[in-house]
Amino acid sequence: MTSPRHALRPRFLLDLATGELLPERAVLMEGERVAGVVAAHDIPTDVPVRDLPDLTVLPGLVDCHAHLVGEEDSGHGYTELLTRTGAQEAMTGVRNARDTLRAGFTSARDVGTYRAFVDVALRDAIEAGWTPGPRMMVAGAYVSCSGGGGDISGLAPDAERLVPPELRVGVVDTVDDVRRVVRRILYGGADLIKLIATGAVMSDNGNPGVPELTEEQIRAAVEEAALHGAHVAAHAHGAEGIKRAVRGGVHSIEHGSLMDDEGVAMMAETGTWLVADIYGGDYIDEIGRRDGWKADVLRKNDETTQAQREVFSKCVEAGVSIAYGTDSGIYPHGLNARQLAYHVRHGQTPLAALRSATVDAAELMGWSDRIGRIESGWYADLVAVAGNPLDDVSLLEDVRFVMKGGEVVRDDPAR
Ligand SMILES: [Zn+2]
Repeated sequence: MTSPRHALRPRFLLDLATGELLPERAVLMEGERVAGVVAAHDIPTDVPVRDLPDLTVLPGLVDCHAHLVGEEDSGHGYTELLTRTGAQEAMTGVRNARDTLRAGFTSARDVGTYRAFVDVALRDAIEAGWTPGPRMMVAGAYVSCSGGGGDISGLAPDAERLVPPELRVGVVDTVDDVRRVVRRILYGGADLIKLIATGAVMSDNGNPGVPELTEEQIRAAVEEAALHGAHVAAHAHGAEGIKRAVRGGVHSIEHGSLMDDEGVAMMAETGTWLVADIYGGDYIDEIGRRDGWKADVLRKNDETTQAQREVFSKCVEAGVSIAYGTDSGIYPHGLNARQLAYHVRHGQTPLAALRSATVDAAELMGWSDRIGRIESGWYADLVAVAGNPLDDVSLLEDVRFVMKGGEVVRDDPAR
């Protein structure tokens, strides 16, 4: 357990609300929560202090599009999922969650696992303190049309019946299927619903530009989720699928790669969030070519990577709400901060990029009252870097100190 009261005294505190780099401050904590930010010389004498004389402290980071369960994508299709048991999937989650937390990501919105509800178990194990990891919101399973981007594709037709049902909990064909499956996923312990609204890059079937759910199906999912207080995140690359999802009332568009100008305007007007994994395409291209991934996957990656970055810039310009999400699991867990530099390269200020991964991410998740800020009452989730991240956001790729809920989970100040 953490001592009841403790304090952290860094070189600087970065206030992401104002963009100010504040010297001579200390973070006072009571157990897992922040009790206040005070002048460094005002720390009560009976409170133990941890000094970080060379580091800048800011709120712990948030990845709003993570996949903590499973092995990294091999680029050889989804049939590989049949080579691992649910127990093995869970153990990969233990490793991935630890690597994510150590990289400074103290919260994550997990947007899907093929093996249903393994993410629920991982979230609960972390919450119970059995294993280290970020605070998680989880999607339970993918809601996908049969044969679509969230289904297990690539099997011989006569092998279809060998797929374990846990891998197809969210597969739907009708509007009624959608309502039934959404209820089942939420009753199974999920916090949000993830729809696969268009084709996917990594799947064997389909193309990212093609819609895979109707507007009516999407609206049914949104209505049913809302009854349970849950939001809906829609995987959508293609312009038509994105517009269906926005009209259907989803909370966020994931990827957004081929969004047209009408879609950008709709996003801005409705306040729908964009979560765009604008780093991953480079990783897929590099590793995919080296390791001989399927040509189809590399083609689809080509068709979406640069286009997505242009969409991202347009959305920044149009004032669309943007939260940080990287599709971790496509690339190795722990490299989640690499995308910050891409946000800056494609139109955000360093401050806006850091806010997208802290305060704005918290807002997307509905957790604005507990994470994303260093303020009295918020969780003591903090990271520290050597230098000023407003000059260079890539400093976050090398965090020296990580604290989650008042407990130190990484401590290499002078590495
Ligand atoms: Zn994803």
